[in-house]
Amino acid sequence: MARPAETMAPPDAAARRRVKAVVVYPSGHMPPFDAAFYDRARAELTKISELTIPPRDARAFSVPAGCFVRIVSVEGPQVGDLNLWNAHDLSECFFSGKTRALHATHVSTGNRLWSSLPSLRPMATITYDTLGWYGWDEDGAGVHDVIGTRCDPYTNLLLKGTKYHHCCHSNLMRALAAERKMPLAEAEAHVHDVLNVFMCTGFTCDTHRYFMKASPVRPGDYLEFFAEIDLLGALSACPGGDCSASHSDDAAKCYPLSVEVYRPKEGALAGWRSPRRNEYSLCHGIA
Ligand SMILES: [Zn+2]
Repeated sequence: MARPAETMAPPDAAARRRVKAVVVYPSGHMPPFDAAFYDRARAELTKISELTIPPRDARAFSVPAGCFVRIVSVEGPQVGDLNLWNAHDLSECFFSGKTRALHATHVSTGNRLWSSLPSLRPMATITYDTLGWYGWDEDGAGVHDVIGTRCDPYTNLLLKGTKYHHCCHSNLMRALAAERKMPLAEAEAHVHDVLNVFMCTGFTCDTHRYFMKASPVRPGDYLEFFAEIDLLGALSACPGGDCSASHSDDAAKCYPLSVEVYRPKEGALAGWRSPRRNEYSLCHGIA
C-alpha cells in the first residue's frame, strides 16, 4: 500500500478478506502440454546456428518453426531480456502479461510463451530448463520472470537523473533496427515486455514490491524452447549482469550469452503443425 488507508475497516472486513481465492485461469482449461511429443522431438538434435550476445548489448536471431532454441549461460552469471515476434508479422509478439496470467510469475518447462492479441497462440513452448530445480525460494523468488518489463533509459532518467544508453530496451531496439534495416524509432514501437531469462525475482512479503536477487545461473545452464511458429527473436545481455545489485549502469560485471538453434531429426515432428491464430470472430459486439 502506498500510504496509510484513509478509511476505517468496515465491521465485516475480516469476512470479506476470508473469501476463497480462485485461480483466474484454471490450468485444466489450458491446451495440454504433450511432454512425450517434445521429448521425442528433442531426443536427437542438430545444431544449425549459434550466436553470441555481447555483454550490455543485444542481437537478433531467427528460428524456423519446429526448431529448438537454447539460451545458454557462458563465462559467468548473466540475465537475458528476450523479445519474440512472428517472423512474418511483427505486430504479433510475445505477450508477457497474458503469459503471466495463464501460467505464473515465472515460467519453466511445460509453459507456453503466448503471443499478443488478437492472435493469442503459443509462439513457443519451454521444453527444458536446467534451473528447474530452483523452484520457489524462501523469499518467494523464482527464476525466468514475466513480471519485469525490461530496463529502459526513460525510467532510469526518471529515477536516477542519469542518461544511460545500454539498457535492455535500447539494446533490443538497436538489434531489431539492424536486423530489419528499419529506423530506430520504428523499431522502438515493436520492442515489448520481455521474458527475463535467468533473472531471479519476486515480491517482498510486507509491501509486495518487485525485488531481484543474484541469479543462480552458472555457465552451462540453459533455457530451451520449441518454436511453434517462425520466430524472430532478440536477446539483450542486461547491463545488470546477474542482477544482484544494480542495472541501467556500468557497475555490474557482465558476461555474454549464447543463442543456439537446433533442428530435430527428420520425421520427429510427424503430425505436428503450428498452432492457428485465435479464432475469435473479431466482432467485439458490433454486428
Ligand atoms: Zn536489462
